[in-house]
Amino acid sequence: MTLQRALISVSDKAGIVDFARALAARDVQLLSTGGTAKLLADNGLTVQEVADYTGSPEILDGRVKTLHPKVHGGLLARRDSDEHMRTLEERGIGRIDLLVVNLYPFRQAIAKPDCTFEDAIENIDIGGPAMLRAAAKNHGTEAGGGVTVVIDPSDYSRVLSDIDNHGAPAYALRLELAAKVYAHTAAYDGAIANYLTSLTSAPAPAEVPARDPWPGVMTIQMRRQQTMRYGENPHQGAAFYTDLSVGSGLLANYRQLQGKELSFNNIADADAAWECVRSFEAPACVIVKHANPCGVAIGANAAEAYQKAFKTDPTSAFGGIIAFNRPVDAATAEAVSQQFVEVLLAPAYDGGALEVLAAKKNVRVLEVPLGSAVNPQDAKRVGGGWLLQDPDNFNVSADALKVVTEQQPTEAQMQDLMFAWKVAKYVKSNAIVFTGNGMTLGVGAGQMSRIDSARIASIKAENAGLTLQGSAVASDAFFPFRDGLDVVADAGATCVIQPGGSVRDDEVIGAANERGLAMVFTGHRHFRH
Ligand code: 5GP
Repeated sequence: MTLQRALISVSDKAGIVDFARALAARDVQLLSTGGTAKLLADNGLTVQEVADYTGSPEILDGRVKTLHPKVHGGLLARRDSDEHMRTLEERGIGRIDLLVVNLYPFRQAIAKPDCTFEDAIENIDIGGPAMLRAAAKNHGTEAGGGVTVVIDPSDYSRVLSDIDNHGAPAYALRLELAAKVYAHTAAYDGAIANYLTSLTSAPAPAEVPARDPWPGVMTIQMRRQQTMRYGENPHQGAAFYTDLSVGSGLLANYRQLQGKELSFNNIADADAAWECVRSFEAPACVIVKHANPCGVAIGANAAEAYQKAFKTDPTSAFGGIIAFNRPVDAATAEAVSQQFVEVLLAPAYDGGALEVLAAKKNVRVLEVPLGSAVNPQDAKRVGGGWLLQDPDNFNVSADALKVVTEQQPTEAQMQDLMFAWKVAKYVKSNAIVFTGNGMTLGVGAGQMSRIDSARIASIKAENAGLTLQGSAVASDAFFPFRDGLDVVADAGATCVIQPGGSVRDDEVIGAANERGLAMVFTGHRHFRH
C-alpha cells in the first residue's frame, strides 16, 4: 500500500522541512497544523492545513486542532477491512498513512524557573497524543498494511529508506515505531502526573529531612527478557523483566554460553553472587547458596580464589552459584568442574575454559560484563506497594575506621577486617563473618539473633575443619550486648569490625579489652533482608 497522505504536526521542527520535502518528492500529500503548515509553506512546499481539510478551524487557542473524525477516522480505519474502507469513502475521509508528531515540550516548559501553573497546563498536549496513540494502534499487520508513526526526527531517514526499498514502511519498522510511541506517551503522561503530584503533596515536616530522591510518581519501562518454567516454587508462574533505564554491568546483561535454562532461583542467586564479586578489586570468587555467600575469597588469580572460597563450606557449595570477577581460564574451569555447580558467572572465558565446561553440559555458563552500573533504586514488594531505597553503595575507607580498644589491629588484621566487612554487606542479617588470609572461614547468615549467627558461623568453620584461632570477624550491625562478642572471642577471633552505635558500646568495648581483642567501628551498618 503506497503512502497517500501524511499528517505533520510538530513542536520540535528540527529536520521537518527536509523530511516533508522528501515525502512530497515521493508523491505523498502533506497535511499540517497551523505553525507547522506555515513553516512548510514558507519553504515552498505544497501543504494543506488540517483546518481546511476538516472544514473545522483551530479553536480554543489551539486546544482543538486535530480532534476531528476526518483525522482520527483517517488514522484508525483498518486497512485490511473492506467495511472500514467503505465507511471512509461514504464520509469523504481520506486515509492518513503517515503521522509525524512530536508533542508540546511539557518537560522543558516546567523546567523553566519562571514557568507558571497556566504555562504548565497549556503545555499539556492533547491532540498530539490522541493522534499518536491512534496511529500506533493502527500500525496494522504484515499482510494488511497499516499506519506509520514517527515521533523522533532521528527516524525520518529510516522511513524514507523503507519507502524507497519497499514502496512503504515495512511492518517491522511500523511495529518498532508504534512501540516507541507508547513508551513516549507513557513517559509524557508520567511527567505530567509527577508535576501535578508535586503540587498536591504535603511538604515534609521541617525537622525530618525528606529522603525520597525520586519524582513522586514513577513510570518504569520493563521488558520481558525471559519466561521461566516456574517461580521460587513449581506452583508459581514467573518471568524475568529487565529495567530499560539501567545501564550495562548488571546481571540483566548476561549472555548464556551453555547449559540448561536459568530458573527463577538461579537468577536471584546469580544476582547476589554477581553483586558481591564485583565489589572486589583483587581476583575474587564468590559461591552463593540461597542468596547468601557460603564462600568468598580473594587470591593471586581466579583458580586460587576459587580453591579458597570452596574450602569455607564445601557442603553448602554443592549445587552453588559461582561468580568470578576475572576471566575464567582452563585451570579454573577444571577446578570448578570437580564440584556440582548450577551457574557460573564471569566477565569472560578463554577457549580452553569453554572446552572444559562443555563436558558439563548442564552447567549454566553466563558471561556478564563487569561494568560499573548500579541499580538506580533498590525495591522491595510489599502488600499494595513498593518500598524503594537507594542501593547500599556505601563503602567505608580504612582511614575512616575508629579503633576503640587498647589493642590496635596489625596491618594484616586490618586487611582481614576490611575483607570481612565487605563480605558481611552481602550476607543476610544478622550477619557474622569470620575471615583470615583473604578468605571466609565461617559465615553465619539470616538469623533472628546475632548471637545465634555467631554460634552458627563458628560451628560451620569447625565442620569445615577450619580454625578460627587468630581470625578476624565482622558483624553487619552493632553487638547489642557483650554476649555476641564473647562468642566470637571464645571461637578464637582476635579482631572485630562492626558499626558501633549501641547504647551498650561501653560494655562491648570493655569485653573486647578484657579478652585482648582489637576492635574497630565503621560508623555504618549493612542490614540486608
Ligand atoms: P503547530 O506548531 O503545527 O501549530 O502545532 C504542533 C503541535 O500541536 C504538535 O506538538 C502537536 O502535538 C500539537 N497538536 C496537534 N493537534 C492538537 C490538538 O488538537 N490539540 C492540542 N492541544 N495540540 C495539538
